[in-house]
Amino acid sequence: MLTISAGHYGKGTGASSYMDEGEETVALVQELGKKLRQKGVKVNVIIDKQSKNQLQNLAYIVKQHNATQRELDVSVHFNSSPTRQKEGIGTEVLYVNPSISTFAQKMSSEIAKAGKFKNRGAKQRTNLAFLNGTAKKAILIEVCFVNSVQDVKLYRSNKNHIIDAIAETLTSYFPNTARSVKSAPLQTPNKQTITSKALQQKAEALFQDKEAVREQLKQGVQIGAFQPIWLENFELGKLTFYDYIALTTLQYQKNNSNM
Ligand SMILES: [Zn+2]
Repeated sequence: MLTISAGHYGKGTGASSYMDEGEETVALVQELGKKLRQKGVKVNVIIDKQSKNQLQNLAYIVKQHNATQRELDVSVHFNSSPTRQKEGIGTEVLYVNPSISTFAQKMSSEIAKAGKFKNRGAKQRTNLAFLNGTAKKAILIEVCFVNSVQDVKLYRSNKNHIIDAIAETLTSYFPNTARSVKSAPLQTPNKQTITSKALQQKAEALFQDKEAVREQLKQGVQIGAFQPIWLENFELGKLTFYDYIALTTLQYQKNNSNM
């Protein structure tokens, strides 16, 4: 469904300041791959362990992405600007194909929210080998800036939230998966629901016949199916329909075991 790659090719091969881009992207992408698989997303993870320079690396990443079956290409980087600074700089997500700009915007804002970074938003870039070379729609995530004390601090303390947010947002790109994963609990019927309307009406009619219910509960108490408190609750109008169903079940069991 999608292919993700770590920018660069290991420690010391990307931007380096308060943290090392090449090292962090590999760790992030490996973790992201695991989380996506847990969510039922089919993901190819590309980590370059063979290139010797940046040109080889870009060619390798593009070639590997294009060799996979997928609908979306994603590469993860950390950003850098010329001078070290204390203040936060933030998250941005780059794209070239305008049809993915809304998704890039969403990705940027979700990462910024999870990491408490400034949201620099989606930016169209027409000169990046990854965006131009990959055949499918693509985004390049710049998580935050390695030369900002604040960004690095935020990244370190919110790392799990950030990776979760990326995984969740990528999953949302594939509505079928998102639906099948998210709606699974909804397909389990509400426990306090009778799934047949007709069955419910019949049982409720029995529950409405107060005299018959009273006789039934008396018999239940007599045979020791349940405590007298339930008969008292009934007289006080505190017995619910579901209590009644449960008590009836206990009574049925007791009657049968006595036979
Ligand atoms: Zn980079």
